[in-house]
Amino acid sequence: MQSINPFRAPGRWLRGNTHTHTTVSDGRLSVADRFAAYREAGYDFLVLTDHGRVSDVSAYTDRDFLAISGSELHPANPYGGDLYHLVAIDIHEPIEVAGRHPNEVIAAVHAQGGHVVMCHPYWCGHTMIDLMPLEGCFAVEVYNDTCAGIGKSTSEVHWDDLLDRKGPILGIACDDAHGTEHDCFHGWVMVKSPDLSLPNVLNALLSGAFYSTTGPTIEDLDLVWDEVPGPDGTPRRVRKVVVRSSPARSIVFKAQRSRGRRCLPPAGELLEQAEWVLSGGESYVRVEVTDEHGRTAWSNPFFLQ
Ligand SMILES: [Zn+2]
Ligand SMILES: [Zn+2]
Repeated sequence: MQSINPFRAPGRWLRGNTHTHTTVSDGRLSVADRFAAYREAGYDFLVLTDHGRVSDVSAYTDRDFLAISGSELHPANPYGGDLYHLVAIDIHEPIEVAGRHPNEVIAAVHAQGGHVVMCHPYWCGHTMIDLMPLEGCFAVEVYNDTCAGIGKSTSEVHWDDLLDRKGPILGIACDDAHGTEHDCFHGWVMVKSPDLSLPNVLNALLSGAFYSTTGPTIEDLDLVWDEVPGPDGTPRRVRKVVVRSSPARSIVFKAQRSRGRRCLPPAGELLEQAEWVLSGGESYVRVEVTDEHGRTAWSNPFFLQ
């Protein structure tokens, strides 16, 4: 996977939610009311993902808002765990899951030109035994707001395990909205796209030109070369990750296994920038920014090897 740094990509920031339900399945709002609610809340795009159903959403797209069709699919799990929850983005026909291996279901999504996200693995009780066999998911939900109802909204460990053991994969924050308040407008993606067209928004999502958040803003993020004094005093070229954000109580750099760094502000203050010099052994590095209310923003990883 070739990841694009959204902070070095041209375009504008678009706010979107990739996982949403309506009365077509088990949501509480009609399709029209769901789109109206997200539009009123300041979103630029919304993916409709009713369980096992696909709705025609074309009536809800105009120059200021992009409606994307999709579905949440639940193939059986042959590896011992609960059913899979897979969000299919930009499909237009329902997909039969009965009797199909999950990878056949993913292939059927791809055959329609769609894209697949692994949903809320913590809520599912999924471990790497369940997740390793899945082929062709471009992202995993690092945050799912409706799963906060049982205290299992974040799947950071699953994401890191996938990055370490399986390979590059992006992280998405979403609402998975079913209701009208408790699971709406709390987790979203900020996508950097040249415009609000479907091809460009999907291309930005697939290439990692976005970050995820439940509140904080990542203002800038880059991987740069620098020179630092070596042990004998001579300059040594190093790579470092540099981030600027909205005020944060912590900024954390995460890489595989025991690698990483947490940066904290002095007592009584908040951080608005941090950096971490890489050792060279990192296979990826990603950033988490947490504000004083406990809300978090997750960058996508820089893939280093
Ligand atoms: Zn689900
Ligand atoms: Zn869902």
